[in-house]
Amino acid sequence: MAYDRNNIFAKILRKEIPNKTVYEDDFALAFHDIHPQAPVHVLVIPKGDFISMDDFSQNAKPAEVQGFFAAVGKVARLVGVDKTGYRLLANHGADSHQEVPHFHVHIVGGGALGPLLAKRG
Ligand code: AMP
Repeated sequence: MAYDRNNIFAKILRKEIPNKTVYEDDFALAFHDIHPQAPVHVLVIPKGDFISMDDFSQNAKPAEVQGFFAAVGKVARLVGVDKTGYRLLANHGADSHQEVPHFHVHIVGGGALGPLLAKRG
């Protein structure tokens, strides 16, 4: 599967659509999720064109991996959930219901989060 340059996070990276930026550096952009599912819900995306965790973990350069995950930790501290706790979530592919095909990590926290996964029906 080829990277879709018209996905919504690619447009955010190109500043074609607005976002509520929390943090930005050479490797990552972090912004508030438009439909927050916890008191704190921030997305961190790499600057490079990676579809998902599967793509990123195989094809990103070591400096991109290091820079990205350092940014995730920094963002969690910036939004103030490092002391109280937070959950990281990254969806890959159909079973996960990944909606946006640009790799992203959700940081959720700011209150007790409950069980890891919704019960299967
Ligand atoms: P996922 O299901 O892991 O692909 O998650 C995609 C996330 O992107 C969802 O939580 C959406 O609410 C969020 N989202 C979609 N469009 C935007 C946007 N323009 N700005 C911020 N968050 C967005």
